[in-house]
Amino acid sequence: MNKNDSSIMNFILEQNGCIAVDEPQDANVIIVNTCSVRSHAEKRALGYIATLKNWRKKGKRVLGVVGCMAERLADTLTKDFPHVDLILGPDSYRNIGTYIDDVYSRETKIIETTLSEETYCGIYPERSAVSCFVSIMRGCGNFCSYCVVPYVRGKARSRPTDDIIREIEMLVRSGVKDITLLGQNVNEYSFNNVHFADLLRMCANIPRVFRLRFLTSHPKDMNEALIKVVKEHDTICEWFHLPLQSGNTRILKLMNRQYTKDEYLSLVDKIKKTIPEATITTDIIAGFPTETDEEFQETISVMEKVKFDDAYMYCYSPREGTRAYGYPSLPEHIIKARLEQLIDFQNSVTIIRAREMIGRKYEVLFEGKAKNNATRGKTKGNKNIIIEKEITRGEVHQVVIREVRGRTPVGELIGIEKRSDHETCSTIY
Ligand code: SAH
Ligand code: SF4
Repeated sequence: MNKNDSSIMNFILEQNGCIAVDEPQDANVIIVNTCSVRSHAEKRALGYIATLKNWRKKGKRVLGVVGCMAERLADTLTKDFPHVDLILGPDSYRNIGTYIDDVYSRETKIIETTLSEETYCGIYPERSAVSCFVSIMRGCGNFCSYCVVPYVRGKARSRPTDDIIREIEMLVRSGVKDITLLGQNVNEYSFNNVHFADLLRMCANIPRVFRLRFLTSHPKDMNEALIKVVKEHDTICEWFHLPLQSGNTRILKLMNRQYTKDEYLSLVDKIKKTIPEATITTDIIAGFPTETDEEFQETISVMEKVKFDDAYMYCYSPREGTRAYGYPSLPEHIIKARLEQLIDFQNSVTIIRAREMIGRKYEVLFEGKAKNNATRGKTKGNKNIIIEKEITRGEVHQVVIREVRGRTPVGELIGIEKRSDHETCSTIY
């Protein structure tokens, strides 16, 4: 989400006459986009902002801190970081150019943290990458008890459907091949009676769309209709990111996730039955307050049953203002040990899942250079693979996986992929 917001700001800044430089030291303006989901992210951002004190002293310069941490800690930033000139919350980027001008001309500080209905409608950043995000919603109203997002990004609101379609049409024309529709819970998309399954179908039918994905799906809202839309459209990638958070129903209730362990498992079953080749990935939190060892082991047992292709795993981080902040935290060493166990377990499963790919054929979109003249590419199931050959970014090839190195499948080209009505590559191997 922040990557996408940074593209939006870059675009607005360029329209206001700013030119990007490669090295922060050469810039007159630095904007630090921040995350608040875990305290670790905030600490790193604050550390970086502190290092910009000397840079800020040299000449007429503007230091901006924007995003969720700016929203949450505007007072601390003002008090403890006087070298920060501009503090903007996630809904205040539209006027960032004017704010910078005001800081320059009036030598004043600007703090704007009002949350609104902003969806950045009508702003279409230019992208040079092969893959990119398109935001379809902002904010979140689910109030999972550990999560700060509803407080720092405001309530859920959907971007107008025609604006999303216009942006995708532009991206496709400019050569983008892999588009991820983005929202905190895309399944809640709703604009003038267009719901997420409708939107997905509409986007999949845009001429020359090559690959479409979506992120994130809340398990409470994912349903068979949506799984069917994914199955029925060749352009929609068979990748489901379904954050589990915990495999124990009591903890899920405390987290206010609104599904049980069995409901989660039956959803995964439906996906696997409808789309056997689907990739399923997840997010898991280790050491939520009051989680017992047995309850934690249930998370491992769900991981064992589902065999996630990959997982993002985190130590629980208490966030002030959330409901769980008042719950008694577990000792840090227990939380860390549980995280390590999760990571070790998932690593072994990820490797098994990668080895299952050996000998199979995949359509791979090549995205960029890897080490030693190799090239990195992505399957429709969102698996990163490597080919030991230089391949131009944006080309699509059929690849057969020959081995797994570390966790990464390594493959060989077996031919040219040319999907109907879409130019892909011109070389025949
Ligand atoms: N909207 C998305 C995710 C948003 S945050 C969703 O509902 O899935 C991304 C991930 O960060 C979450 O899935 C969760 O696993 C993790 N996370 C959020 N708050 C956290 C906290 N306080 N401590 C640890 N991990 C957290
Ligand atoms: Fe946070 Fe839950 Fe909303 Fe995701 S769905 S952003 S975890 S409150």
